[in-house]
Amino acid sequence: MKLYFLSLASGSSGNCYYLGTDGYGILIDAGIGARTIRKRLKEKGIGLEKIRGVFVTHDHCDHIKGCGCLGEKFHIPIYSTEEVHRGLDRNSRFTEKLFTSRRILYKEVPVKIGDFTIQAFNVSHDGSDNMGYFVDAGDKSFSFATDLGYISDTVANYLCRSNYMVLEANYDHEMLINGSYPDSLKERILSKSGHLCNDETACFLASNYQDSMRHVWLCHLSRDNNHPDIATKTVEKALEGQGIQVGTDIIIEPLHRSENTGMYVFE
Ligand SMILES: [Zn+2]
Ligand SMILES: [Zn+2]
Repeated sequence: MKLYFLSLASGSSGNCYYLGTDGYGILIDAGIGARTIRKRLKEKGIGLEKIRGVFVTHDHCDHIKGCGCLGEKFHIPIYSTEEVHRGLDRNSRFTEKLFTSRRILYKEVPVKIGDFTIQAFNVSHDGSDNMGYFVDAGDKSFSFATDLGYISDTVANYLCRSNYMVLEANYDHEMLINGSYPDSLKERILSKSGHLCNDETACFLASNYQDSMRHVWLCHLSRDNNHPDIATKTVEKALEGQGIQVGTDIIIEPLHRSENTGMYVFE
């Protein structure tokens, strides 16, 4: 089965990823406007009627902005846990509430969409509830882990089973510490329920590398406290320190904050 992956946006101003086959697709988060999502998908030849569901990681605005319109106007089911749905109901900035498009899922309980088996797994962050997603697509597997304070054993277990992963590299430690953010915000980002830094992601990949891992996209890079080159170099250095050849054994690529990537096709 051919697998298609596209990042539509990644970062604190909006997150949205597409994963599909020749016949259908899903979105992980819809944190940019529905019109932009529709336009960016259309440019790649994908109509919204192909989207069978949006799988929401948590209820922060940069992950949910387009969910109301996609759910209620375009009738795309919006999947997440009950706690996240309650968070959406309470969120005054999330104005288009979900009614008919609301779908409840449970962590570690698979949801079948065509040939995809999708499982939410717990991550540590400060939304109403927080999860990553593991997608088993027959002979290929994909995972999405964004907005997490640390890589727990549960998260590590799913990542190690993935051929492809979208994994957070939010900030460079030095840049955050020496940067202009107020102390309270720095503490939040640094905490166990904050975000992953380049070093944590690098260290995880270097010590858990598997031959089956093909491609890692670094996601949710901070505009103020990171740079794509710094994130990539940090991860490359750690992997190469373990004798893993970046570009040959595994591909490491940072995701753009506001622009979509090209369409990746995996045969
Ligand atoms: Zn976020
Ligand atoms: Zn968040």
